[in-house]
Parts: sequence; structure tokens; C-alpha cells
Amino acid sequence: MTEQKDQGPHVVVLGGGLAGVACAHTLGDEGVRVTLVDRNDYHQFQPLLYQVATSQLPAEDIARPHKAIFREHPTVEVRTADVAEIDVDNLAVTLTGGERISGTHLVIAAGARPQFFGVPGAAEHAFPLYSVVDAERLRLHIQDMVQAGARSEDDDGALDVVVVGGGPTGVEITGAITELMAALVATEKIPKAGRITLVDRGKAVLAPFSKKSHKYAHKRLVEQGADPRLGTGVTAVHSDRVEFDDGTSIRTRTVIWGGGESAAAVVKTAKDLPTGRGGRIDVQPDLTVEGHPHVYAIGDVANIPAKDGRTYPQLGSVAQQSGAWAAGNILRELHGDKAKPFHYKDKGIMAMIGRNAAVAEVGKRRHQMEGPLAFAAWLGVHAMLLSGAHSKTDAFMSWAWDYFDRDHAATVEWSETPQRIAWGDDSADVPHIHVDRGDSTPSAGGK
Ligand SMILES: Cc1cc2nc3c(=O)[nH]c(=O)nc-3n(C[C@H](O)[C@H](O)[C@H](O)COP(=O)(O)OP(=O)(O)OC[C@H]3O[C@@H](n4cnc5c(N)ncnc54)[C@H](O)[C@@H]3O)c2cc1C
Repeated sequence: MTEQKDQGPHVVVLGGGLAGVACAHTLGDEGVRVTLVDRNDYHQFQPLLYQVATSQLPAEDIARPHKAIFREHPTVEVRTADVAEIDVDNLAVTLTGGERISGTHLVIAAGARPQFFGVPGAAEHAFPLYSVVDAERLRLHIQDMVQAGARSEDDDGALDVVVVGGGPTGVEITGAITELMAALVATEKIPKAGRITLVDRGKAVLAPFSKKSHKYAHKRLVEQGADPRLGTGVTAVHSDRVEFDDGTSIRTRTVIWGGGESAAAVVKTAKDLPTGRGGRIDVQPDLTVEGHPHVYAIGDVANIPAKDGRTYPQLGSVAQQSGAWAAGNILRELHGDKAKPFHYKDKGIMAMIGRNAAVAEVGKRRHQMEGPLAFAAWLGVHAMLLSGAHSKTDAFMSWAWDYFDRDHAATVEWSETPQRIAWGDDSADVPHIHVDRGDSTPSAGGK
């Protein structure tokens, strides 16, 4: 077992998602020594996962190598390794091989994992959508199902899909799959579209949004060919069907799980970390952990208290801003100043249901927008989120407008080589994405 010795400030950041990258960037800009540890050698941009799952974008376009992101930051060292244990008392992490990395500060930014709520068979048979590997696995599975559906004479349910969870992830993937089906029918790849059912226990899709947005999203999903089934819970998932609490079932080989998330598994390895809702780390207003002034938790892994007594939602803008804020507080401390409570600049909530169909609620009064205006808001917020990993976001903007603005569904591509975002990255900047193609069984989401 080796341990690095520190001279001067050294911040260990666990996780290179939106939160960890924002934190390391801000510290690196000031020349602070940082070691960023992530099991992947790339940063993944989750808001575009469903485009990968439905073959609209190649996985490489939303995964940028950490080394490329920090090329201009010589004080930021990137380590590609799995963290087996967190040691808050010693401000250290232990890697799976036994190596320990300790610092003067520890920032936990390990994100979340899918939460299956103990539904039998869900971890084994449902497809979560939380990582690039999840998205790629789902894409390959859908491709297999399309081939089976194209060959099949009778209706054996090969093309039928059930999406669990009517929040933004469930609604967005449902919209993208209905478009994919329409495109496959239009290009005569399949004889007819599969049935796409969106299931949620609640009474409306996009529950955190306003009633107007509920109605809009519901109507658009139905127009696109989806069947929202509300007030219904999933009781079991099998390899060939899904069962509901009203005693009915649907024959399907594709159950997509958008039904919730909990903190990354590594959190459980830490002794003395206060955890609350979703197994996430409860932090103080300045983002530190109580009793551990040099330990921060940020982004999806943390319950960050909001001014209204609730906690902030698991959103990209919360992750990015909390990452930069934690870095700011570390810098304040290094300069002998007091840490400041996190102040979140609310970017609103938004969801894209398909081409020409988006919904957004922005501002203090949650001003509701639909269609192109909502898409423009979505684009602005996402370009800002992406700017942490990609300094040039104009390529993303033009790709996204091209997608949104074109004629409806039938023009969605279905090809081995979908349209690329012209990032203009160095050709050496290739993320290493490993998908086990041995079978299309989804991950148990245990990471
Ligand atoms: C499908 C989907 C769509 C979304 N769409 C939107 C949207 O449109 N707008 C929006 O604002 N938000 C959206 N979100 C939420 C947003 O993406 C997250 O809030 C944000 O990415 C969280 O960032 P993070 O850095 O906290 O965690 P993550 O991005 O999950 O990063 C955590 C990192 O930690 C690493 N890690 C974890 N455990 C270990 C370990 N033991 N060892 C080593 N490394 C480890 C992981 O590999 C990962 O890179 C979406 C999320 C999903 C899943």
C-alpha cells in the first residue's frame, strides 16, 4: 500500500462528473494542486444519454477524456481508478488496488446510481439510463429488438417498450423512442411501430412542473404515439414482461428504468458520514460535512440544503455550481477568509419531449414556455453545462438546432454512423468506453 505525502494544499476530488470537474477547474485555475479520481477516463454528459440510446448521437460525442479537459491545468492530476473506500478522518481515498491518496481537503463528487426500490427483477432485467455505458447497452439492445421485430411475422412484442418513471428522464427517453419508431417505419426498417408505454405511480407526467406543463407533455407524448399509464406501479420485471399493481402485465423485452436514484455505492464505505434521503451525504450550507471542515460533498451525491428548508434537486446546474462553490470556499480558507453558504442561481426546470416539443419553467415565478422558446432555454442551459468540459459549445448549439428544427420524426436517423457533433477535438482525445456485449443484460446499477 502506498500513500502520497503532501506538501501544501492538495485537494483530492472523487468523481469527474459535472460537480467534480467544476471544482477541479476552479482550483486548477488558481494553481492549487488537485488529484481527480474517476473510474472512467472520461467525463460523461448525462443530459444527452437518451440521444445515444436512440442512435441520434455516438457515445464518444458526449464523453470527453478528463485528460483533455485538464490539458491546460498542470496542477490537476487525473487518475483513472475505482475508489474502494473513503476515509473522511484522514481526508483520503483507497483505490481498489490498495493505493491510498490523501490530501489536505477531500471533495466527494461521486454522483448517484439508479434506485430500483426493491422491485423484483428490476436490477436484473430493466435498463437504467445513468451512464454512457448504460446508454450504449440500451442502444445495442434496441438494435437487436429492431432486427427481431423486422424479421418477425407475428406481433411477439419484440418492439414494445415500457418506460418506468414519468419524470424528465422517463419523458425524454419516451419521446426519443417514439421518434425512433416513427423513423424506422418511415424508412421501412420495421413493418409497424412497437407500443411505447410510460408508467408512473403519480397522476401526471413531469410531476415537479406546473399543471400546464403536465398537460402539454402528456398531449405531446400521446401525439407522438406513446401511451402514458398513470397511477400505476410496477411490481415485478421479468426478461419478457413487466407486472403492475393492478394485476395486469405487458409483454416486453425492453423495460427502461427512469424511476429514481440514490447516492453512489462508495458513500457506504465511509464511516462517520451523515446520510439522509436517497442515501446521499447531508451537507451544511457551506457544502462541508458536519464535524469535518475539510470534507465537502457536492452534486448528486449530496443533500444540499436550500433556503426554503428543502434540498436542491439532482440537476446539472446544481452539480456544476456546487462544485465551483466548494472550490471557492477552499480558496477562501487558503486565503484566511470564512467559507460562504452555497448560493444557487436557479436556471429553471426543462424537458425535451421531441423535435419541436420542449417545455421549460424559468425565473422566480417559474414562467412557463413551450415549443421553440422552451428549446432555446434548454439549449442555453445545456451549452453552459457543457462548457465545463468543452470550451467550444457552438458545435453543440448547431447540432441541437439542426435536430430540433427539422421536419418531424421521419427524419430521425437510424444508421451505424449517426450525425456527429463537430467538436473539433484532437483526434487523440478518445474516451475508452467499454460495453460488455456478451449479453444485453443491464447493469445492476450497483456502482
Ligand atoms: C438521463 C439523465 C438526463 C439528465 N438530464 C438533465 C438535464 O437535462 N438537465 C439537468 O440539469 N440535469 C440533468 N440530469 C442530471 C444531471 O446530469 C446530474 O445532476 C449531474 O450530472 C450530476 O453530476 P455529478 O458530478 O454530481 O455526478 P456524475 O455526473 O454522476 O459524476 C460522478 C462521477 O463519479 C464517478 N464515480 C462514482 N463512484 C466512483 C468510484 N467508486 N470510484 C471512482 N469514480 C467513481 C463516476 O464515474 C462519475 O464520473 C440528467 C441525469 C440523467 C441520468
